[in-house]
Amino acid sequence: MTQELTQTPTGFFGEFGGSYVPPVVQEALDQLAEAYDRYKDDPEFLAEYHHYLKDYSGRETPLYYAESLTQHLGGAKIYLKREDLNHLGAHKLNNVIGQILLAKRMGKKKVIAETGAGQHGVATAAAAAKFGMSCDIYMGALDVERQRLNVFRMEMLGATVHAVQEGERTLKEAVDAAFGAWIQGIEDTFYVLGSAVGPHPYPSMVKDFQKVISQEARRQILEKEGRLPDMVIACVGGGSNAIGAFAEFLPDSQVALVGVEAAGHGLQTDRHAATLTLGTVGVVDGMKTYALFNEDGSVMPVYSISPGLDYPGVGPEHAYLKDAGRAKYVPATDAEAVQALLLLTRLEGIIPAIESSHALAEVIKRAPQMSPDQIIIVNVSGRGDKDVAAIADYLQAHPELKL
Ligand SMILES: *Cc1c(COP(=O)(O)O)cnc(C)c1O
Repeated sequence: MTQELTQTPTGFFGEFGGSYVPPVVQEALDQLAEAYDRYKDDPEFLAEYHHYLKDYSGRETPLYYAESLTQHLGGAKIYLKREDLNHLGAHKLNNVIGQILLAKRMGKKKVIAETGAGQHGVATAAAAAKFGMSCDIYMGALDVERQRLNVFRMEMLGATVHAVQEGERTLKEAVDAAFGAWIQGIEDTFYVLGSAVGPHPYPSMVKDFQKVISQEARRQILEKEGRLPDMVIACVGGGSNAIGAFAEFLPDSQVALVGVEAAGHGLQTDRHAATLTLGTVGVVDGMKTYALFNEDGSVMPVYSISPGLDYPGVGPEHAYLKDAGRAKYVPATDAEAVQALLLLTRLEGIIPAIESSHALAEVIKRAPQMSPDQIIIVNVSGRGDKDVAAIADYLQAHPELKL
């Protein structure tokens, strides 16, 4: 996005968020914001959304007491919110169903999306297949090479996958290409954005579609324990599963909220994606937020073992919650995440996504310091089947971490 930037007064979380985009994109965003305002509280729209969450995606997802993990760590009681049990194995479909139903209401025939590792692309392609819409997915050419299986899944589902050859050939260039394609076809195209990031209204809309996670979890913990948890922990890439897991607990000041970012090879290296820990405030992907910038103001290349967490920015509401002190954001390295993944797999028979394993790494640090009458809810944002080959490679390169 190199054109002149405009800024609207809506959609701010404190100083963060907003809409820093060229005028032609702003027109499309205004149209989207208006449509979303019209439908977000519409009982028919919400009934349809919850119908597909239930019968298509398999909600509600369980809140599972991880007894073996709790005993092993010897502290707080640990509950897992099982977003890994959604159709397609992650929380992403919660958001995609909401956006596709809105696209239908707006009369759009075509959806586009960006994707990094391919998880959001697969979810969008599946929903497009289900609702009979044409689907174009933009993916960095390097990611296309690294994620052949997801590329083939998207193609099976009827999507056209565009390999973006610019720059580093990863997610950032895919986002730029998707915005470019949106500008080309703004009349009939809906851009399904994959996280709680980007210009207004996306961060608020994606939060609304993901807050079902904490609506369920809050009710479930009250049923099981008769009280609220002491802490909710979730991993943060763009921040959609975390904001969904935090949303309904935000007014409960006794519930600590902890987001976990990818520290990759370590914060002292240049191979990490610890945006809120080490970033500075600036504009990226149409929003004002914390991001990792080079000295010349360009966006830093980021790294994590987990393909869902290597994003150089973060959703603006997380930037706000950090500065307001309502949520804390901490890093976890590749090694800590892999260890956490192996521990949950061995103790509970659940292979979590490597993204979610960053949140579990924080549970491993925190739970032993808490008392047995305290409660942690950790959001297991996805399942780890997709990561098995990467874990095998990691273990081969790090024999000290053997199974
Ligand atoms: C995409 C993804 C994430 C990261 O995205 P957020 O928007 O930060 O939630 C985390 N976990 C899984 C399983 C994912 O697929």
